[in-house]
Amino acid sequence: MELWFTEKHTEHVKFSIQVDKQLYSGQSEFQRIDIFDSPEFGKFLTLDGYMMLTEKDEFIYHEMIVHVPMAVHPLAKRVLVIGGGDGGAVRELTRYLGIERIDLVEIDRQVVDVCRKYLPQTAGRLDDPRVSIHYEDGLKFVRAEENVYDLIIVDSTDPFGPGEGLFTKEFYGNCFKALKEDGLMVNQQESPFYPVDAIAMQRAHKRIVDSFPVSRVYQAHIPTYPSGHWLFGFASKKYHPTEDFDASAWMKLGLKTRYYNPKIHIGAFALPNYVKTLLEEV
Ligand code: SAM
Repeated sequence: MELWFTEKHTEHVKFSIQVDKQLYSGQSEFQRIDIFDSPEFGKFLTLDGYMMLTEKDEFIYHEMIVHVPMAVHPLAKRVLVIGGGDGGAVRELTRYLGIERIDLVEIDRQVVDVCRKYLPQTAGRLDDPRVSIHYEDGLKFVRAEENVYDLIIVDSTDPFGPGEGLFTKEFYGNCFKALKEDGLMVNQQESPFYPVDAIAMQRAHKRIVDSFPVSRVYQAHIPTYPSGHWLFGFASKKYHPTEDFDASAWMKLGLKTRYYNPKIHIGAFALPNYVKTLLEEV
């Protein structure tokens, strides 16, 4: 008998991956956590039935959420990751020797424990001595911080359930306050393609525009997310994402990447007309 994982992307669209085996299923205080193994995408993590990452395509998301801001602010020393309990963003950050401290604020300890056991590909650098893990709500954590971070990465679930607060105006305002005077923030900002996701994306964009002087959106192709067309927000107190990007300085770091490169960096900020229209509408 064939086993399939299916996620409903809209009322009329479903996305399915053939599964060899379910490796883990558990209910935490916050969400249902499942790990599957599959012939095409390798092991993958879902929360409440929604795809978080697969071994095959996680490099795209994690490289784009980390190397884009790090290439604009290569002197970043103190970084805050909110969500991201799978460890993929932390893994990419630990490759920068100039980073002195990474605070990971993940609400659900069980996600971290399960990823450490089943997904060492992403969780393998959570034990780096520069990483401190805080099992807290990111919304509350940033309220108490002021002028501390060079970079904040919001690697959250979608804007419902525990992730809902991480898409609010209050949260973005507190991230602004928690950043140093040349700090910047990136966030996963949903897909522009299906209206149900585009509305959440527009709402988040509007709130970020209202909170930061520089606000742009960039994109990547992520096969296992709804429509495959995914957006990230780039918000900054000072630096412009392409004008203040020094490609040769980043190349000198000698980091090997599978998706990100300086041309992708520039190109990712060139958006299709329908996305520009959606962003202008807000
Ligand atoms: N790459 C993923 C995506 O876009 O689908 C995100 C993956 S990561 C596993 C998201 C994490 O955010 C989850 O582990 C979840 O527990 C965490 N999270 C959700 N709400 C949170 C909150 N308010 N504070 C801290 N972490 C939160």
